Amino acid sequence: MITLLGIEKVVPRLEDLALLLPMLATVGAGQLLSGYNTLYGGPRQPDEADGPEEFHVVLLDNRRTALLAQTEQRDALHCIRCGACLNVCPVYRHVGGHTYATTYPGPIGGVITPPLRGWQDWIHLSYCSSLCGACTDACPVKIDLAHHLLRNRHTAARLKPSWWQKIAFRLFAPIANSRALWMLVTRGGRLGQTFHGLIRGTRLDPAYCWTRTRDLPPIAKHSFKEWWRKQRK
Ligand code: SF4
Repeated sequence: MITLLGIEKVVPRLEDLALLLPMLATVGAGQLLSGYNTLYGGPRQPDEADGPEEFHVVLLDNRRTALLAQTEQRDALHCIRCGACLNVCPVYRHVGGHTYATTYPGPIGGVITPPLRGWQDWIHLSYCSSLCGACTDACPVKIDLAHHLLRNRHTAARLKPSWWQKIAFRLFAPIANSRALWMLVTRGGRLGQTFHGLIRGTRLDPAYCWTRTRDLPPIAKHSFKEWWRKQRK
């Protein structure tokens, strides 16, 4: 038998399971104990009827010790993967847990995926939060997730932007600063969405990674100002 686990899954004593197992089931699924738990005590002993002949435990680091060295962020490794932060998150409740194709979904995924899998490629997850703090309130092991997400954003601000980010922000700044340009782009976006259905979910679709599994929310038909003007007429 081979067991594969991250180093943060090790608990000091067997007795600690008496706290952690019910905690995981209660907070994650509202049960007193989850439907399945398996305890292995190592390889089969000569006087035992069954059990594995060999027992191997592989402890994966995968940058966890680097995270452990970050004194302000290491408590993210306390996570027991109950999913409570995901269930209460106003963002993930709408987009679903596996929207961003990460092993760890939800707010804790936004916290630990960038340091574990690379800041450049995964930092966008830390922006997938309203920072309302519901995740922090729900976490049974008291990880201050909202604070960690904010800290990740500070780290992101010090990273060198990629070429497409540079172009995107260069374009976005004048558009966001000019009402006329903003209206023009919004109208263009509405028009683009009319034709988007023709390529939606195909490789030609620039939003493919989103639209292959879900709909792209439509841009509002009117801006608030347009709506207001219409009402006053
Ligand atoms: S961060 Fe907290 S609430 Fe979220 S999965 Fe981990 S233990 Fe559960």
